[in-house]
This record gives sequence, structure tokens and C-alpha cells, in this order.
Amino acid sequence: MKIIWIALVAGLTLLLIECALAQEKISPPQNATAAAMPDAPVPTPPASEKALSYYHSGNVLWLVENLWQIGVLMILLFSGFSARLRNWAGKIGKRWCFVVAVYFILFELLTTLLGLPLSYYSEFVREHAYGLSNQTFGKWFGDSLKSLLVQCLFGSLVVWLAYVPLRKSPRRWWLYVGLVTVPLLCLFMLIVPIWVQPLFNQFGPMKDKALEAKVLALAGRAGIAGTHVFEVNKSVDTKALNAYVTGFGGTKRIVIWDNTIAKLSEGELLFVLGHEMGHYVLGHIWKLILFNSTMILAALFFADRLAGLIIARYKTRLGFDQLSDIASLPLILLLCQLFGLCLITPVGNWMSRGIEHDADQFGLEITQANHDAATAFVKLQLENLSNPQPAPWFKIMRANHPVLGDRIDYANRYRPWATGEKLKYEEYFRREASK
Ligand SMILES: [Zn+2]
Repeated sequence: MKIIWIALVAGLTLLLIECALAQEKISPPQNATAAAMPDAPVPTPPASEKALSYYHSGNVLWLVENLWQIGVLMILLFSGFSARLRNWAGKIGKRWCFVVAVYFILFELLTTLLGLPLSYYSEFVREHAYGLSNQTFGKWFGDSLKSLLVQCLFGSLVVWLAYVPLRKSPRRWWLYVGLVTVPLLCLFMLIVPIWVQPLFNQFGPMKDKALEAKVLALAGRAGIAGTHVFEVNKSVDTKALNAYVTGFGGTKRIVIWDNTIAKLSEGELLFVLGHEMGHYVLGHIWKLILFNSTMILAALFFADRLAGLIIARYKTRLGFDQLSDIASLPLILLLCQLFGLCLITPVGNWMSRGIEHDADQFGLEITQANHDAATAFVKLQLENLSNPQPAPWFKIMRANHPVLGDRIDYANRYRPWATGEKLKYEEYFRREASK
């Protein structure tokens, strides 16, 4: 139990540090006329009062959501409710594999229902209050129901895959489950963009054909031949901007949110896509799968070691004495969540920031459009109400991209082609396909 309290106290301390540092973050106003000249460095706009309010309230919300998840899992576990849930699942499911699935579905319904007010506030009310959302209540509710269904379906499969080795090999289960996550993550990476995301939004062909030809020419230069470009009607949900390159073989695709096409200039859009193509060409998906699988393996090992001690001490209260009992699911999730917060989140963010920086460099090298890159980042900052210079703890715990102030500076500064220096990613660019 001690470790849980340590994590809670650490979380609160972080928030207090964050509040103490809050006053220092407003960037000095910069020379506004510089932005008007095409090749002049683009200044980072200071965070508006609204952006700062969104940033601070977002940090409080992040802490509340984490504490809420930990609290719910602890209550389900230590009140013995999870064991009762397993008994009910046993009456409905009868056979073990069905008991596992029924337990998981009941667990998922209950936790979603308990968390509904918080998710309604964070995903709907708050986003509307800050003018970041276009979503109707019906669309939000329908999407929430669909994602609950998808989670029940995939979640039952994952939980079943974890509890089979737990029953058969209680000493090495974490190793087997960890190894299974590699093909499973690959499968999800394939399934989610092609079959899951279209459940929520319409994926159509790109409307602006002249722009599509330029996007395909850039993809050709990046070595991503034979790809399709999709435009998604994401403007029904959000005002945020995004694009990505995903899939492999015949499923390879460039996906652009319609807001991004509407709000970015052609040069800015091509830089953003150059960045996304960088992720694809540099194999960042595979690096992430490898990293996540390793971290899941480590988290399961940690959960296995600690769960044994907790069960030995509190088994009467918990209502189970074996980790292979499905009633132990909240315990495994709780330990993985604590391990995630203490280790996976900071290490994962650090790795992700490195990958994002490489993709920025790739995008700059392939487009050589410093000004477009910098103004695209400024638009991202303004549209998404981002803080261009957040607190150090925010970078560690929450920033999976380099902060926008640093990205704007880098876009202004990085131009090795101007002095004839070798480009880092030169060998990836196909010269025969002209711009
Ligand atoms: Zn990226």
C-alpha cells in the first residue's frame, strides 16, 4: 500500500511545483514585423491568457484523472467488489473463457459509467468552453458508445490472452504475455486506422486534386510510392489540426484532417506531411512497437512481483488468493498504471520527443521550407491553445512532442542546404521524382 501513497503524494507535489512555476511562463513579446517578411525568422507568439488557463486547468485535470483511475481500481479491489463481480460473471459465463470475457465486459461497463461525468467534462464541456470543439452532444455520445464497444471486444481478447498463461504458467506468465504483445501491437496498428477509425469519421478522397498531386509528388520523393491520400471530416469533432501516414503494403495511406487542409497554407501543409512521411520512412512505428512491448514486459514483471506480496497480505479483503483469478484484474491494472506513471511515461515521452524531432528534421530537409514550417508550428500553437514554453515537469510527464517554442526556433535555424552541408536524411530522398 505504501507505494500507492508515495505515488499520490508525488503527484500532488508535482502539481504544487507546477503552480509555483506558473507565473514565470509568459514569453516576452517579440518583433511582430519579422513575421511579415518571407525569409525572416518567425517569432514564437507568447501564450495568450486563454492558452495559459487551458494549460493550467489541463494539468489539474491530468492529475485528477490519474488519481481517479487509481482510486477506482483501489476501491474495486480492496472492497472485495472485484471478487463479487467475478462471482456474478461465473453465474452468467459458466465456462472459464466466458467468465473472463463477461467479467471484463462488466468491469469495463462499470468503470466507464463511474468515469462518465469526468470524461463528459474533459472531452465535451471543457473543449467547448475553450472553443476547441465542434462536436454535437449526439456525436460525442455515439462515439463514446462505439469506443466502449470496441474496448469490450478487443479488451476481452487481450485479457483472455493474458489470463491463459497466468493459469498455465504462474511463474513465467509475464514473459509470455510480454512476447505476445509484439504481434498484437502490430495487428492493432494495422486494424485501427483501417477498420476502427472509419467507425468514427468519414474517410474520403482528397477534394483538392492539384494539392493531392503535390502531396503524392512529395511522397514519391520520400520513397513512399503507390500510396493513397485520404481526407477525414474531423471538423465535425474538433478544431485541432492533424495528419499522419500509416499502414503498409496495400494499406499504405496518407491521412489528412479536413481542418488541416482548411487552415494551413499549401507550403505549411506540405511541411507537416513531410514530417509525417519522416515518421513512416524512418520506421518510427516499429521503434514504438518495440519500445512499448519492452515496457509492457517490464510492467508485467513488476506487477507479478508486487502482486504476490499484496495478495499474501490482503487476500481475505481482496476475496482471491491467486493472481490467475480474473478478480485480480484491477490489481494488475493498478500496478501497471503506477509503473507506467513512474517509468513508462517519462521514458516514453523522452523517446517520443526524440522521434518527433527527427521527423521535424526530415520534413525540413525534404521541403527546405523553414518559414512554412515555423508558421505551421505557430498555427498549431494558436489553434490548439498550446503553451510554447511549459514547465520542466510538463516536458517530463506530459510532452510527447518537443515544446512548440523549441520547434519554431529549430525551424527558423536549421538550414544546412544553405551552406552546402550534407543532409542527415539525404539518402532517403528520391531525386528522380521531381517536386
Ligand atoms: Zn510527428
